[in-house]
Amino acid sequence: EAKRLGKGRYIFYNDDMKSTIVERAEIEQKLRTALENNEFELYFQPQFDILKNEIWGVEALIRWKSPTLGTVSPDKFIKIAEDSQKIVAIGKWVFEESCRFAKKLYMMGYYKHTVAVNISVIQLMQEDFNDFILDTIKKYDLSCKTIEIEITESVLMKSIDDVYEKLSILKDIGIRIALDDFGTGYSSLSYLKALPITTLKIDKSFIRDMENDLMTENLTSSIISLAHQLNLEVVAEGVENLGQFERIKKYKGNRIQGYYFAKPMPEEDIIPFIDKISGRI
Ligand code: C2E
Ligand code: MG
Ligand code: MG
Ligand code: MG
Repeated sequence: EAKRLGKGRYIFYNDDMKSTIVERAEIEQKLRTALENNEFELYFQPQFDILKNEIWGVEALIRWKSPTLGTVSPDKFIKIAEDSQKIVAIGKWVFEESCRFAKKLYMMGYYKHTVAVNISVIQLMQEDFNDFILDTIKKYDLSCKTIEIEITESVLMKSIDDVYEKLSILKDIGIRIALDDFGTGYSSLSYLKALPITTLKIDKSFIRDMENDLMTENLTSSIISLAHQLNLEVVAEGVENLGQFERIKKYKGNRIQGYYFAKPMPEEDIIPFIDKISGRI
């Protein structure tokens, strides 16, 4: 099928594109009521502190079970939620749930565990973003140090001034700020120096390719030492095996996150997991 776009210009749709458009529309429509119907759940994936040999904390990862669409991956629906602004309400729910979980850990006697929360650029662009974050942390009576906000590089490139200022304020009061998926965007090194961040999360594509590609391994070790010179902590995400873990350890990464250590789990599983690792059971 060809569609006329104007004089002599045609665009051709194939079945793949058509199903993508239909799927998008369906997801967008079902997203409208997903929050009020309680279709979201947070999973938590532990991060392991290599030097201290203990759990550092967890990353909260959203899961959506739609009664009609089934399980939809965040890689699929977050973008759509951003385009429809739904991400603002969903993101608030994610942050509040993360704080509730952080409080639960604290009440169990895990005083030092941190909860890392993914934040979308659309959320950061809301005028009340900082107020919301601070109010929610206060509501649960948490220390700012128990929260790490994860943002992607593209976020900072897009809307630098406003976002930069908001993040600086949050960082100054002790909230940790991680640059997620590092290495997949376009940030220059001088730019990295100026960012209000505490943590660099190396993208899992580096970790995956490191073992079979010496250039990627060298690049990864260079990123880690560069980050340390900028006073940043380094997390390796997507660590799936011993070989990758040993390399990150050798190059002095601070934390690992990945299937090698643990998969993301629902709350009822993560609590016993932490208890077990901490030697409580
Ligand atoms: P991300 O923040 O980079 O999260 C890491 C992703 O890697 C997660 O995918 C996680 O399940 C996966 N992962 C963890 N360990 C391994 C491993 O060893 N190997 C491999 N191959 N993958 C691993 P997930 O949960 O599907 O989330 C995908 C992305 O969706 C996230 O990437 C993040 O960008 C976004 N996302 C997830 N939850 C939220 C949320 O609550 N809010 C926002 N704004 N975005 C979210
Ligand atoms: Mg993340
Ligand atoms: Mg990531
Ligand atoms: Mg990602």
